[in-house]
Amino acid sequence: MDAAFVETIGTPGIDGREVAALPVPEAYRAAVLLAEEQEMFDGIPNADRMPTKSLHVREVPTPEPGPDEVLVAVMASAVNYNTVWSALFAPVPTFAFLRRYGRTGGLAARHDQPWHVIGSDLAGVVLRTGSGVRRWAPGDRVVAHCLNVELEEPEGHDDTMLDPAQRIWGYETNYGGLAELALVKANQLMPKAGHLSWEEAASPGLVNSTAYRQLVSRNGAAMKQGDNVLIWGAAGGLGSYATQYVLNGGGNPICVVSNEARGRVCREMGAEAIIDRGADGYRFWRDEFTQDPREWRRFGQRIRDLTGGEDPDIVFEHPGQETFGASVYVARRGGTIVTCASTSGYTHQFDNRYLWMNVKRIIGSHFANYREASLANRLVVRGKIHPTLSRSYRLDLVGRAVEDVHRNRHQGKVGVLCLAPAEGQGVDDPELRARHEPAINRFQDDASSLPGQPGHSEIDGGPRSSTQIR
Ligand code: NAP
Repeated sequence: MDAAFVETIGTPGIDGREVAALPVPEAYRAAVLLAEEQEMFDGIPNADRMPTKSLHVREVPTPEPGPDEVLVAVMASAVNYNTVWSALFAPVPTFAFLRRYGRTGGLAARHDQPWHVIGSDLAGVVLRTGSGVRRWAPGDRVVAHCLNVELEEPEGHDDTMLDPAQRIWGYETNYGGLAELALVKANQLMPKAGHLSWEEAASPGLVNSTAYRQLVSRNGAAMKQGDNVLIWGAAGGLGSYATQYVLNGGGNPICVVSNEARGRVCREMGAEAIIDRGADGYRFWRDEFTQDPREWRRFGQRIRDLTGGEDPDIVFEHPGQETFGASVYVARRGGTIVTCASTSGYTHQFDNRYLWMNVKRIIGSHFANYREASLANRLVVRGKIHPTLSRSYRLDLVGRAVEDVHRNRHQGKVGVLCLAPAEGQGVDDPELRARHEPAINRFQDDASSLPGQPGHSEIDGGPRSSTQIR
């Protein structure tokens, strides 16, 4: 993108009229998957598929925003696990979603392309608004949540997640956030936190909103003060926000992690009960088909040792197949298992006697409605929930960024700089930042926390400071 364009867009306090006067580039650079390559990993197990092979940075034509849409100049984005699924073409290639969406007709047809611009988070500046947009204007500094919803049917009007035409932007739609420009619906936008840099602001969106609905909202587990909450992957994307919500809400997080450094970052957030699943070596499965209830009991006993004999009121689930049997077992009588994913496999097996005899509940939860996303974002804006960004990559190295998340080599979130020329830019409220600086930087990269990491030197020639990017 033209340097003058980037400078104008990034100017603090820029007059919106100057942004509106900028010519819209005809094309822009984006992280894309190619339809012609969607079978490239057929027959290869997910663990051996490589996002560095399937992801490309290419120019794509700029779409014209429809009446309810906004074109955003993207300063930074973030990697989500859906980016991993997209880049692995698993469980299905995302081109099937684009085709289905395109078939609904009208402007949706633009989404069905032989390339897919992926990415479900952004922080940036409004460049153009569609004719029907009232709330946002060129020059506004924004973040976007990833719920794309049509709301033409009655079903979605109590809770937009129930709309039959509900899609995840940048996964089930085109023109996602891992790019220099992005197309969103106006009702995806939310104010950017002034005290955060572009890449910090881009990182909470998807996981923060998801954790909010899953744990705090009445649509999820409706956590209350004093609850014991077992959090799988507590130093990962979702878990790092779940841990903050439990602490903010007066609960007691029991954080499961796979190494000591991840336990340390959970302690730094304020958690006291940590389970290192790597050190404890739980084997919930004896073989491919058989679970081991003795291991569930050992895990449950470990939880009781940490809570003074209490069982979790809520289990925050997402690993799925590998842990679900244990999660159902350890939840307290009357407790809730709330799940939003199945990273290790989506055919769950559990002993139903423990569920029904002890009157436990399983709740399915998916992303968040606009209200939930904006309540979650409001907490970020006010400095009550902090980003958990550990490192950032330039857009041209997006494949490596996604590879890190695929290999569980990251903590918290991995950022991607799109138009932002360097880390640390975009801060408008240095005073609020100064009050929260240690918390904002808590997840900044620490080589010792990255098991299996080939070493920073391999990527960027030596240990990095917080201002270096890859
Ligand atoms: P992430 O950043 O990779 O974090 C997941 C954490 O889970 C890892 O840090 C890891 O921590 C732990 N983990 C991984 N495999 C595990 C296993 N087999 N057993 C126990 N723990 C395991 O990913 P994320 O962003 O949190 O997303 C997690 C899942 O949720 C993904 O499948 C994603 O697609 C899904 N998700 C769904 C929604 C939705 O709206 N439905 C939204 C966001 C994410 P340790 O190794 O330290 O234990």
